[in-house]
Amino acid sequence: MNTLDQVLCLSVAIAVLAVPLRGSPALAADPALAVPAIAKWYGNRAAAVSLRFDDSLDSHVTYVIPKLNEYGIKATFMINPGLDRYQRHREFWENDVPRMGHQLGNHTMHHRGAATPAEAEFEIGEVSRLIWRLYPHASKLLVFASGGGRGDTWGGKPWKEASPEYKAIARKYHLIDLFDGTHPYLSARSNLTGDDIIGAVRKAVQANGHQAIGFHGVGDSRSMMDYLKTLYRGADLTLGREAFEESLAFLREMQDVVWTGPLGDVLKYQAERDAARLTVLSATAAGLRLSLTVGTDRELYDHPVTVVVPGVKAKDVASIAQDGRLIERHGERNGLVFDVEPVSGTIDIVLRGG
Ligand SMILES: [Zn+2]
Repeated sequence: MNTLDQVLCLSVAIAVLAVPLRGSPALAADPALAVPAIAKWYGNRAAAVSLRFDDSLDSHVTYVIPKLNEYGIKATFMINPGLDRYQRHREFWENDVPRMGHQLGNHTMHHRGAATPAEAEFEIGEVSRLIWRLYPHASKLLVFASGGGRGDTWGGKPWKEASPEYKAIARKYHLIDLFDGTHPYLSARSNLTGDDIIGAVRKAVQANGHQAIGFHGVGDSRSMMDYLKTLYRGADLTLGREAFEESLAFLREMQDVVWTGPLGDVLKYQAERDAARLTVLSATAAGLRLSLTVGTDRELYDHPVTVVVPGVKAKDVASIAQDGRLIERHGERNGLVFDVEPVSGTIDIVLRGG
């Protein structure tokens, strides 16, 4: 996760991104001063980009993760712990990946669906329990992809049409169902170039949106299966290294404008932001008192939320506190910005010489 250190004190000219909220009399006196708001994206950036890698492939271990680490970018890896290709690198997936700050998502034990609800309980539940054990301090909310291949059927049907018993298992494990039809993403296949991916990111910046990117393998060596898929579909699921590295270089260059994070984090932030409200209780020369109302459950939705106060300079701030606890870091990006915990309460901003 990015820290505010990285994020702040930079004067990149981007649009005012915050969603305006009801003003206070003191701030409304100056129309140049917009009212405090929850930033649309973490760190008050213009857009979010999420990277997700499916199927616990060898190239993730040998190439993708070292490369992401080189660029300081975190991602979500959708794992199949029951498969040999995962077991070959079990130590890496279970010790190194959590320590490096990447996230794991639930892609079922064996990537083959389930014939019965009891089997589905194992295929889905076992992966969640494993990930919870590997990230003991993280929320139990995980992203879930049921698998979209021909072999991935649930009681004989594709996930979309599976009976309610199967969907209930996903809900029981607090899974964000990526196959529920509301999670579009750009599939990074062999026919995509770096410019294609960069173009999609630029569009997200213009729209202040989220561009989700889904990867399978990355690398130049193709398997026989990839070769056959290329003949059949015109493209296989392995993205070239050059396209991948160009994309990472661009995302690093854009880190003050684009929040690149694990898919799970971006979806969490989005849900928190949409269910939260920020109002001004008082605003004087001495400072501001804000009320934050959070609609999400802190047990599951634990990502910090960015507050932006347009018109206030970081150097004019004496202190910021949430429910009496001091917030150590703050900075500027189109206004004063700082992170708060996603819990309802009061935020006090004390200004210098007020
Ligand atoms: Zn898959």
